[in-house]
Amino acid sequence: MNGNIADYQTSALLMAIVLQGMTDQEATYLTQAMAHSGDMLDLSKYGDKSVDKHSSGGVGDSTTFIVLPIVVACGMIGAKMSGRGLGHTGGTLDKLESIPGMSVDISPQAFYDQIDDIGIVIAGQSKDVCPADKKLYALRDVTSTVDSIPLIASSIMSKKLSAGAHNIVLDVKCGRGAFMPTFDKAKELATLMVNIGKMAGRNIRAVITNMDYPLSNYVGNSLEVYGALEVLQNKSKGNLYNVSIALATNLLETAGIPNAHQKVLDSLTSGKAYKKFVQMIAYQGGDVEYLLYKNKLLSCKFTYDIVAQDDGYVQDIDAMTVARVVCDMGGGRKMVGDTIDYQVGVQLGKNIGEKVSKGDILATMYCTKDEQASLSTTLQQAFTISKIQVEDIPLILDIVR
Ligand code: URA
Repeated sequence: MNGNIADYQTSALLMAIVLQGMTDQEATYLTQAMAHSGDMLDLSKYGDKSVDKHSSGGVGDSTTFIVLPIVVACGMIGAKMSGRGLGHTGGTLDKLESIPGMSVDISPQAFYDQIDDIGIVIAGQSKDVCPADKKLYALRDVTSTVDSIPLIASSIMSKKLSAGAHNIVLDVKCGRGAFMPTFDKAKELATLMVNIGKMAGRNIRAVITNMDYPLSNYVGNSLEVYGALEVLQNKSKGNLYNVSIALATNLLETAGIPNAHQKVLDSLTSGKAYKKFVQMIAYQGGDVEYLLYKNKLLSCKFTYDIVAQDDGYVQDIDAMTVARVVCDMGGGRKMVGDTIDYQVGVQLGKNIGEKVSKGDILATMYCTKDEQASLSTTLQQAFTISKIQVEDIPLILDIVR
């Protein structure tokens, strides 16, 4: 980081890693060097109670807003640094900022104060965290060395190590809407990340989950907060609920908490997790009226429905197409620094396997500008209706311990 190594030498190292691969121990050394290249959060005073979760990026994925409050309501400490969205993947910070007043730019002192006061915080990453990752990523981008399992694993895990948590759960997505399209690749990445975490002395597990279809019925920034609230208020038990329960349970289990599954369910049904989320939003300046009267999160100039053209069963909903529509509506960034339209999004009206009749609403677009409705033709193409009902699709594909 002091500039002594020329970019062409670093690029040669990156290409050597792509061609040769790395042993788990080598990848761990690289990850630790990257983590120590900048600021490290010090959560040591919370002993073995600190937790973190990471998702490799999905569509309609607001599990952070559910998992973190659940485990904090179970007595853990949830201090999370998150990122912004780019391309089709939504960012946790952008979703939070769709709540008016919500601040994610928090000074280090305020970050620690908030943990001491309420045990939970989600904030933006300071620019001094993992500078080596930023430098390496920029070089990977221009040397075609992004697509290497040890480089991806060290990039993700360096940020997890510097974020300081003792217990980590990784949600490694697999499928069309994910970074890792095949199960084998997802498993390879998950296994290496878990091994790096263990060698660096952390408790860690990875849950490999399906991302062929949107995870929840809500895609878009403020819509995804709405979707998370549905789960936190015990009003929805769909895929978002199931993945969140699996992640929270694995996080508590890896931390050695007995009866983890039951504790997770209790923290949801008792309303304690919901209250924790509201407390966090209020602490960070967010207008809690948007949580208490959550329809405010769905207020757009107008809505536009996509309807079924035929009778049958929903055979497919292409996550990537839905995500691209929301991004093109203005709900995502094409370039770093683009501004976001927080209110736009898509609500799915039908799920995979559901019976539909001609004219049923398949999806509703939340629009702030007339021209956004022109994307309805593309959104329609995300749906495949067939005469044959599809079998249940597994959601949790594997757990790497
Ligand atoms: N996410 C990261 O942070 N780094 C990668 O290399 C890939 C995904």
